[in-house]
Amino acid sequence: MTRHGHECVFCRIARGEAEASLVHGDDLVTAFLDINPVTPGHVLVVPRRHVASLGELEDPEAARLMLVGRFVLGALRGGAVRCEGVNLFLADGEAAGQEVSHVHLHVFPRFAGDGFALHGDWSRFPPRAELDALAARLRATLP
Ligand code: AMP
Ligand code: ZN
Repeated sequence: MTRHGHECVFCRIARGEAEASLVHGDDLVTAFLDINPVTPGHVLVVPRRHVASLGELEDPEAARLMLVGRFVLGALRGGAVRCEGVNLFLADGEAAGQEVSHVHLHVFPRFAGDGFALHGDWSRFPPRAELDALAARLRATLP
């Protein structure tokens, strides 16, 4: 159950209780087509366990998520769909755009003129000292 008391849709898919177009399943993760694809072939890779944030996954689950993401990338590049490139995207937290509170890695084909864009302010190039100071603070909190 989610914190809202509703059964999580990705949990239901992982258990085979909700409709999904599966592309992969193993002991740790499952992968299926997104019902609202950015481009044809848009896949979601999700852990079987209900975990909201990537940071809460066990290492083997996180590793499998990326491994299967790579398999899917290979499949997309294999010719079944229009695919000139691939994006991997993961929204962690509501502020980051996460709508389903069960970890999911988006893997979707890209091609010229597909209309997908990530908007943001990419204009700033901070001084090296600022970057170094921030890197040091982050290093101090890494495992
Ligand atoms: P996000 O905005 O990163 O949380 O992405 C949630 C994604 O889940 C969206 O792309 C939805 O289209 C997708 N989605 C929601 N419900 C389902 C479902 N039942 N089957 C497949 N994809 C879903
Ligand atoms: Zn869930």
